[in-house]
Amino acid sequence: MAKFFIFLEHADGQIKRGGLELLSAAKNAGGEISIFTNNEAIAEQAAKYGATTGYVCKNSTLENYNPEAYCSVVSEAISKSGASVVLASSSMLARDLFPRVAAKMNVGFASDCTEIKFNGDNLLVRKPLYAGKCSATVQFSNSNIKIVLMRANQLPISQTGNGSIKIENLSFSKPDLKTVVKEVVRGTSKKLDLTEANIIVSGGRGLKEAKNFELLNPLAEVLGATVGASRAVVDAGWVPHGMQVGQTGKTVAPSLYIACGISGAIQHLAGMSGSKVIVAINSDASAPIFQKATYGIVGDVFEIVPKLTEEFRKALS
Ligand SMILES: Cc1cc2nc3c(=O)[nH]c(=O)nc-3n(C[C@H](O)[C@H](O)[C@H](O)COP(=O)(O)OP(=O)(O)OC[C@H]3O[C@@H](n4cnc5c(N)ncnc54)[C@H](O)[C@@H]3O)c2cc1C
Repeated sequence: MAKFFIFLEHADGQIKRGGLELLSAAKNAGGEISIFTNNEAIAEQAAKYGATTGYVCKNSTLENYNPEAYCSVVSEAISKSGASVVLASSSMLARDLFPRVAAKMNVGFASDCTEIKFNGDNLLVRKPLYAGKCSATVQFSNSNIKIVLMRANQLPISQTGNGSIKIENLSFSKPDLKTVVKEVVRGTSKKLDLTEANIIVSGGRGLKEAKNFELLNPLAEVLGATVGASRAVVDAGWVPHGMQVGQTGKTVAPSLYIACGISGAIQHLAGMSGSKVIVAINSDASAPIFQKATYGIVGDVFEIVPKLTEEFRKALS
């Protein structure tokens, strides 16, 4: 049976959704689960989802992400855990950290996966390639440890742990770090990050100008959604880059993605075509987004979005 090691990210004192999905998947696969976190309360939460050992490093250097420090301490924790399968959500942080960990430990690595199949220590993962034009099934060979980064919102969550966990405190001392994070300035948005969001309302150049982007906020609010954007509007300075979905933005996989005035360029599709249901609103019936959409609405965003908002408000109230 596989021994799992799960790297958990957290926000506002809660394990992020992607981490909960991985804990549930590992528990369902029937393996022993260790986790890594910089916060003991997070380890205790993980116990409710089946983790039995928590590697916790509370050193102040790890409060903010430092690639060198994290690579050193996470590699050490993986070795100590004896895990054969290492899982993390395919976040910006994990995509920066785990190639370093894999290189340091000389083990196999697959990022941005959308499916995972466990068969004891053997693993098969599926990952999109070439901006989503095709996908590959990847098997690990000659690697005693397999590192897999999974996109969030792909797996169900179930709370099946017994709530008890053994905490192993890790010390960290590396006075010769080559870079030090002096300050992190957080964005002002209180919304759930796009990569974690279950519903996304995204806007594109069809909204014509920056102030019209606000049209999306009431719809997002009614649905409990996070607002995203195409690169065209990010480049135009209407919204910050953190909101960009696509090849050079964030990869998202929500249950529902509503694209408002977005043409559906391949680079945009690369970031959102893994969404379960795609609704496209576009005045041009031949816009490429309709080829990917589950439901297409040919019409003017300025008419359709307020109507949809009203209808959802009534239906959900
Ligand atoms: C290397 C590279 C990387 C890139 N990375 C990304 C990326 O990460 N993310 C990304 O999004 N793009 C990316 N792009 C840009 C991408 O190619 C497109 O230019 C961009 O996605 C277009 O954004 P858009 O759909 O908002 O604008 P447009 O393509 O201009 O589409 C606007 C759409 O709005 C519709 N419309 C107009 N008025 C209305 C109305 N009143 N009501 C309804 N619909 C209306 C139009 O019919 C049109 O389909 C990248 C490009 C390159 C070369």
